[in-house]
Amino acid sequence: MDFNATFPPVESLIPEAARGLNAVMDRLCPGVFAGLLATDGTLLYANRAALDAIGAEPRQVLGRRFDETPWWEACERSREQVREALALAAAGVPARFDVRIGTADRGAIAIDFSLLPILDPEGRVACLVPSARDVSERDHAQRELLRIRHAVEQATDALFQVSADGQVRWVNAAAGRLLGYDIAELLGMRVAQIDAGIAEAEWPDRWQALQALGALRFETWVRHRSGTQIPVDVSISAVQDGEGSFAHVCVDDLRERRAADERIRQLTQHDLLTGLPNRALLADRLEMHLQSGAPSALLAVDLDRFRRVNDGLGSAAGDLLLQAAARRIAAALRPGDWIARPSSDEFVVLLRGVDEPAARRTAQNVLGAFAEPFDLDGETVHLTCSIGIALSPEHGDAVEQLLRRAGAALIRAKAAGRNGLALYRVAPFDEDPERWQLENALRGALARRELALHYQPQCEFRDGRIVGAEALLRWRSPTLGEVAPDRFIPVAEEIGMIGAIGDWVLAEACRQAAAWRRDGLRPLRIAVNLSARQLQQSGLAERVERLLDEQRLQGCALGLEVTEGMLIENLEQACATLARLRALGVEIALDDFGTGYSSLSYLRRLPVDLVKIDRSLVADVTDPRASITRAVIALAQGLDLRVLAEGVETAEQLERLASHGCDLAQGFVLGRPLTAAAFGELLCASDVSKPE
Ligand code: C2E
Ligand code: MG
Ligand code: MG
Repeated sequence: MDFNATFPPVESLIPEAARGLNAVMDRLCPGVFAGLLATDGTLLYANRAALDAIGAEPRQVLGRRFDETPWWEACERSREQVREALALAAAGVPARFDVRIGTADRGAIAIDFSLLPILDPEGRVACLVPSARDVSERDHAQRELLRIRHAVEQATDALFQVSADGQVRWVNAAAGRLLGYDIAELLGMRVAQIDAGIAEAEWPDRWQALQALGALRFETWVRHRSGTQIPVDVSISAVQDGEGSFAHVCVDDLRERRAADERIRQLTQHDLLTGLPNRALLADRLEMHLQSGAPSALLAVDLDRFRRVNDGLGSAAGDLLLQAAARRIAAALRPGDWIARPSSDEFVVLLRGVDEPAARRTAQNVLGAFAEPFDLDGETVHLTCSIGIALSPEHGDAVEQLLRRAGAALIRAKAAGRNGLALYRVAPFDEDPERWQLENALRGALARRELALHYQPQCEFRDGRIVGAEALLRWRSPTLGEVAPDRFIPVAEEIGMIGAIGDWVLAEACRQAAAWRRDGLRPLRIAVNLSARQLQQSGLAERVERLLDEQRLQGCALGLEVTEGMLIENLEQACATLARLRALGVEIALDDFGTGYSSLSYLRRLPVDLVKIDRSLVADVTDPRASITRAVIALAQGLDLRVLAEGVETAEQLERLASHGCDLAQGFVLGRPLTAAAFGELLCASDVSKPE
């Protein structure tokens, strides 16, 4: 049958009917392209959607061979496919495939194209119906899906899909790599077999939590096939699909991150030169250890005169020396002891579970480790160290406190001549939180004239007359108020100000003594307290002599008070200085006797004139059992020394001391320390009542 004869183009035959049919077609399938072809491929009809796609009117395309129409212009390969399909369809074989066509407004798009032969009642091909659907979106989605699947498969994070009953139903390659299994082996495994942090029985709870919250995130450990456990970060989200809900699990291996963290921690908590823990780590570990309350000792180890090596041989040699010193210290410790390097030439050692004797022994071992000289690339260097020891819990259980106290002991070890050790001795000032404020204020105190001397009378027992006065230093700071000498003098010693302050005290005492004499008051001996540093300084006797000369005073106008501790630290030099002072007529008093070494046999060898019995012993004299004071008085007098009782507060004490034969007394009962003016008045009054 000749189709063209049987079915001439619709428009040409019945224009209204054709228009109606076209309208129906367009309405029925607005997104679908449809047409009609003669068996030879001539386009007889194209619907509105197809025409609009290429922006054509019917007359521009109808009557042309279908494969020559503008739809295929953009893609030669598609045109070929259509040609083949036309040939097949003409033979009665339908075709369906995806091709690309060019459109007027969207460029090339993908379509799902089919070509259907229509048979006449005799079974011959009567015409062909091309139809097509825009699948560019589906195509795009499919490509997207592929990309996503690829990304998921290749993701470095291990991904799992877990069903509601806790079974793995899908994993990616990274999951297999992480756990050491083939993907097939993982499918069907239970979450509890993989996650070491959850038991099988706990899965329902986790699932419920996931459903309630929508997502979960936590850190846990997963089991590797080898049996090792791997730290991971897990994020789970609940996903709904057509078959119900499942869990999408993303598992991030934390090993590398942990290793990096550890490296950073190493760097920030260790000293690069020696590899030893630095101050931060030291504080951390100490904190942990001290919390346990176990007895322990902290050694502050400082290399003596390290700076000289560093300056003399260069910092490279200094570095070598520090490394060698660190090794020697470490080798002198017991296993379990612990060493850190908090600052340049200082090491801190923590000895665990030790008492004082054991701490001293270990410290001695450390000192001993420096006996042999160091060999620095052929250069022989002798180096010693000093060690300060603080014990816990005796000296404190707080990190900062113990470190400070070991440091304070170290300063003492250094002051005692280095290459030695010193145990912390409780001193009121190093606990003071306002210590730094005090130090700062003290630095300007002399220049700002904030210092003054007060005078406390010293009286003869014999007749109660004032024969002398102790000059006591007073500091009135505008910021801190009245500061006691017990508090600021140790600080002045430590910051190296005691020399200047001591010189001022000496000069001021001499000036005042001379002024009183000029005022017509009877001659007194003004006693000045010396500090250890002052006594160690050379030229003290010369300075005193010059001061006396300047004020036209005789030596007997001045007394100097020293303590046993000051003398013993450097006995020979101290004795020589004191001997020269005594030769000037200056009286030397041994202050605070009874609190320190209090060795009476020792007294014999010391160049002193007067022993001042400390007030702690004096307070005891009313106790009938206390015979110490009496013994001291008797012995001192046996050595031809005069004895002064300090801190006498009651008449009863005075009486008893008198009965023991004590020579002099000083204390509140006789008179408190007074300003120079007030003391002058007191002297005047006593001169009037007790003329010479
Ligand atoms: P110190 O040399 O033993 O001085 C005697 C201390 O006992 C003084 O304390 C004095 O005020 C106090 N005192 C006197 N009588 C009594 C009493 O009856 N009862 C009591 N409870 N206390 C009494 P201060 O003035 O606070 O001086 C304390 C220490 O400071 C002195 O002890 C001395 O070691 C030191 N110091 C004072 N002035 C100087 C100074 O110019 N240079 C140096 N290096 N040290 C000084
Ligand atoms: Mg004194
Ligand atoms: Mg005293």
